Amino acid sequence: MLILMKSNASEQQLEAVAARVRDLGLTPHPLKSSSRTVVGVTGEYNGLDPAVFSALAGVSKVVRLSVPFKLAAREFHQDDTVVDVAGVKIGAGQKLCVMAGPCSFESEEQVLEIARAVKAAGASIMRGGLFKPRSSPFSFQGLQQGGAKIMDLARQQTGLSFVTEALDEASLELVEEHADMIQIGARNMQNFTLLKKAGQSKKPVLLKRGMSATLEEWLTAADYILSGGNSQVVLCERGIRSFATHTRNTLDLSAVPAVKELSHLPIIVDPSHGTGIRNYVPPMALAAVAAGADGIMVEVHNNPEQAKSDGGQSLFIEQFRQMMEKIPAVAKAVGRAV
Ligand code: PEP
Ligand code: MN
Repeated sequence: MLILMKSNASEQQLEAVAARVRDLGLTPHPLKSSSRTVVGVTGEYNGLDPAVFSALAGVSKVVRLSVPFKLAAREFHQDDTVVDVAGVKIGAGQKLCVMAGPCSFESEEQVLEIARAVKAAGASIMRGGLFKPRSSPFSFQGLQQGGAKIMDLARQQTGLSFVTEALDEASLELVEEHADMIQIGARNMQNFTLLKKAGQSKKPVLLKRGMSATLEEWLTAADYILSGGNSQVVLCERGIRSFATHTRNTLDLSAVPAVKELSHLPIIVDPSHGTGIRNYVPPMALAAVAAGADGIMVEVHNNPEQAKSDGGQSLFIEQFRQMMEKIPAVAKAVGRAV
């Protein structure tokens, strides 16, 4: 439910509305923008008569949201949100954000070599898993704690920001301490306890789309993080399960304009997990930029053939450089700076 305030409503009237919302056991989310002041209402209000708010002084009208998500909804928050990852700004027409790095951190040498290369090619955030969600328990599970020290060292040496996945509540604490952005992976998109914990974090969150999640389910999952008080959420389209077998997943680029219509949150695209095939990554990365994505996340490895995870979809460093050279022209064509 949204309570739209009159343009001349006073601060006291706004406070009285918020107090009434709280009296009813609900939570008010006041939001002021240049064009309007609105109070988003969350909580269980089914059956509540909107007249309890529309009669209050300063209220212009009360509207029900047409979508099941609330805080992530564009109807609630009209202006694009800008997410700040240790100084790297994502969304609202800011420069295109390029996140790049290996699927997993494997060693100090591997991380430092890739970090220098992706930075030189124009990436501003490095990716790389410390905790890996692998289909088999016998596959490489990540360097875990040991990788966090390498992350700190690579930040010190390159000035890059870092994003890495938290698999559960225990790893979230370590990730929160060392990384600049917490990644929540596709398999955990509806891990509600993890989402709530990320909502309490001071670090921005990258929320990947679940393997078979609708946009409604994805944005409602984002509400878990936003409702905890963490407004810094970036969405990441990474492909969904389909009947197609020519790629690992089906990269749903139409999610970009659709999410931009439904939500104020920034959205980036991961063509690496989205296709699973190295040579398909550069064209789909360019297509993501053309579709209006706020950034891309790409797997890059200094020795993909020997990678401990996802080597087949990881770009060679040279291939990444060549892809990066093609991005400015596409970005320019859609009015975006790099
Ligand atoms: C990853 O980015 O390393 C990853 C595991 O991605 P996803 O959660 O999209 O599968
Ligand atoms: Mn991977």
